[in-house]
Amino acid sequence: MKVMKFGGTSVGKPERMQDVANLITNDIESKIVVLSAVSGTTNSLIEISDFLAKGDRSSAKQKIDALEQQYKLFADELMSHPEANSPASKILNEHFEFLNIILKISYSEALSKDILAQGELLSTRLLSAYLSKKNIKHILLPAMEFMTIDGNEEPQIGNIKVKLSQLLKQHVGQSLFITQGFICRNSKGEVDNLKRGGSDYSASLIAAAVNATACEIWTDISGMHNNDPRLVKNTIPIDHLSFDEAAELAYFGAKILHPASIWPAQQYNIPVKLLNTMEPQARGTLISEDVSVKGVKAVAAKDGITAVNIRSSRMLLAYGFLRKVFEVFEKYRTPIDMITTSEVAVSVTIDNKTSLKNIVKELENFGTVSIDKDQAIVCIVGNEIAEDATTLQKVFNSLQNIDVRMVSYGGSAHNISVLVPSAQKQLVLQQLNSGLFGLS
Ligand code: ADP
Ligand code: ASP
Ligand code: MG
Repeated sequence: MKVMKFGGTSVGKPERMQDVANLITNDIESKIVVLSAVSGTTNSLIEISDFLAKGDRSSAKQKIDALEQQYKLFADELMSHPEANSPASKILNEHFEFLNIILKISYSEALSKDILAQGELLSTRLLSAYLSKKNIKHILLPAMEFMTIDGNEEPQIGNIKVKLSQLLKQHVGQSLFITQGFICRNSKGEVDNLKRGGSDYSASLIAAAVNATACEIWTDISGMHNNDPRLVKNTIPIDHLSFDEAAELAYFGAKILHPASIWPAQQYNIPVKLLNTMEPQARGTLISEDVSVKGVKAVAAKDGITAVNIRSSRMLLAYGFLRKVFEVFEKYRTPIDMITTSEVAVSVTIDNKTSLKNIVKELENFGTVSIDKDQAIVCIVGNEIAEDATTLQKVFNSLQNIDVRMVSYGGSAHNISVLVPSAQKQLVLQQLNSGLFGLS
């Protein structure tokens, strides 16, 4: 059995959804198809939720009505023959009735998650209606019945495995399953989600849970490129990445993959393929445990980083200082990405600024604290690049005019990271494209 995940643009237009129907019925291998919401829908649902949070019901209502119109056109085109009581119009009525009822309920975080879930529920039900119309046998599996996260918002892979296999056992002999990406149930039993771009994560978790032969991520580009195609002109697809390389790229900003989407596949050794719905013949990128290809593969960048610097003469020749510093970040459940130290100072970077004020307050007990906001981590990834001196040389040659704030080298053999001001991120990526890959 394999997993095929289709992202927002892959189901973004009626004809694309019809292409998806063709792609998933191309071969006889059993499959679980994971769908995102139609592109733009999750953004619209977030806007609706934000209006409600502010108590602006009339703007929320306007947005709901506009979305409903958009979906009516979508469904009419998808099903070719618009009918008042067709299965597709019933689906739309149900979900938009739900959104309209929500307008009357007072806002809560849990309600907001319910609103956000409507995108994936709609896309999967619409595809299911289309498949039924085409007499294609399939089963719609509700993600809410098997995809769970614990109190720390971590997926419960053991539980997912048990629940999913119980569900699949109820449909022996069936070979095509459709389910929602992104959405899940939390430890309180409420509707929740795996954060933006989370359908990739759903796909990888499902692939791990059923021990799939492959996890295919179908998107709008032919595989992982060597650099961010949104910011750099001449980028090229990469044939092969190891799990570690792909995980670093995803974590450090390559939007094609959700930051956490590699570990489930890696843990269960399931190859991940990045493929293009608009160009299904293209080779794409294979992500597997094979680490034979050495050298620099790609660069990626993550914005919104804050550097926290703690300077203290007490650190000089002292032990236990770093432990105290790290404990503060642990207390506020704030992950650290980069670290550099000298005899009298330590700098760390964080992505999650929620507890920054409290963290700074507690760190001030140990020394003078300063922060640099609006930084970006640029990450250079490739097998054993830290062992090849020329790579570091090329990186520094490409950064001569850049205000490099931190460098991380040697922590892992396949990653060199630099911290630069966000304003210089694009320039850094462009210069690395020519300096490391000879592409300009
Ligand atoms: P989907 O809706 O299918 O999940 P996403 O928009 O989340 O698609 O991810 C695909 C997009 O990721 C591409 O269109 C591309 O602009 C962006 N992207 C960023 N970095 C990379 C990269 N290194 N390689 C390929 N795509 C990238
Ligand atoms: N629809 C969700 C989002 O836009 C999940 C996904 O597309 O992967 O973030
Ligand atoms: Mg995505």
